[in-house]
Amino acid sequence: MTANQSFKHALMQKDAQDPLYSFRERFQISEGLVYLDGNSLGPLPKSTPARLAQVAEREWGEGLIRSWNSAGWIDLPQRIGDKIARLIGANAGEVIVADSTSVNLFKVLAATLKMNAGRRVILSQRDNFPTDLYMAQGLIGLTGAHELLLVEAEDIAEAIDQNTAVVMLTHVNYRTGALHDMAAITQAAHAKGALVVWDLAHSAGALPVSLNTAQADFAIGCGYKYLNGGPGAPAFVFVAKRHQPKFVQPLTGWLGHANPFAFDATYAPADGILRALCGTPPVLSMAALEVGVDLMLEADTNLIRRKSLQLADDFIALVEQRCGRHGLQLVTPREPALRGSQVCFAHPQAFAIMQALIANGVIGDFRAPDILRFGFAPLVVRFADVWNAIDTLARILDECVWDQSVFTQKGKVT
Ligand SMILES: *Cc1c(COP(=O)(O)O)cnc(C)c1O
Repeated sequence: MTANQSFKHALMQKDAQDPLYSFRERFQISEGLVYLDGNSLGPLPKSTPARLAQVAEREWGEGLIRSWNSAGWIDLPQRIGDKIARLIGANAGEVIVADSTSVNLFKVLAATLKMNAGRRVILSQRDNFPTDLYMAQGLIGLTGAHELLLVEAEDIAEAIDQNTAVVMLTHVNYRTGALHDMAAITQAAHAKGALVVWDLAHSAGALPVSLNTAQADFAIGCGYKYLNGGPGAPAFVFVAKRHQPKFVQPLTGWLGHANPFAFDATYAPADGILRALCGTPPVLSMAALEVGVDLMLEADTNLIRRKSLQLADDFIALVEQRCGRHGLQLVTPREPALRGSQVCFAHPQAFAIMQALIANGVIGDFRAPDILRFGFAPLVVRFADVWNAIDTLARILDECVWDQSVFTQKGKVT
């Protein structure tokens, strides 16, 4: 056997022995499509459409407004939050589903500035996801009294000092896939009296997260990525139990009120995590998210992690074996313990190469300025997909398939 054949054979064997293999059947993914973008938009669980139809036709159509109570709509944010808590090492009552990741970040960030009044700095990483930086900038525009300090990933711990109110970080970097040591950074921040906000957009559902073991303060995360909640799914927010009595967030909508249906003229926060709520939950989107979360809860997170790292290891090795001469530069840490569930390569023609891949049935994504990003959602990606993706990638590079004008046209969303 050639090296390629034996690699392919080993991948097929891994599929045959994969304890998570049958999960793929639970999702709708067209035959022949290689989907390596579950980190951007998780695929559709096959049971979601029926649940959506039930919520629309029965609960909304027949139950009408009664369904807020009779179908438990009003409890969805907390009910799904309690389920997500199990995926991220939190307890029931510490997580709630609401709004978007960006909005939830604003809430918790504002709360930390109040809790650490007198300290002026929000510390973050220069290549954090832009919305996180933008939300911090917007908040600073309101307070007029803080500044956003951006440093490189390796300089974070050192940059924390007596003036740091909060360290705001994304656990797994969206562009490189590099994973922060949550416990170590949290500890370093606490040692200086700073709080930490963790963005779990690329962590929840992708790897075991232990918020409480790490003594995390606050976290936020995304419903439409690895949790498979559907496009624009609501997000979640975690507030550690010990902080909840002092958690004062500025988006004081009525559903975060202690007694919303008293219709008091004055805001008074609800006890516990409920005070993180603002307005009415998007019930249809919540219902879809719950299906995705329920499905995720059936899988063992340690198996998810093991498979995700194996997929990524094989992907890296095969790219190097088959596409080595084409100048793809690995920007994801090679060391498994230092990465999340994605692998990224830099290449000057990354955009056109990704467009050519997508046109040929391999969906990953491009991240400006020059990154090809491949996500490995272990419930849907098979080892055979690794082979097929790189077979296609090798052909696109070897034959310069990417070098056509159709592959340089950018849509609104890239
Ligand atoms: C995807 C992502 C978000 C998304 O924020 P939205 O408010 O849902 O648009 C936020 N932060 C990070 C790190 C992300 O990767």
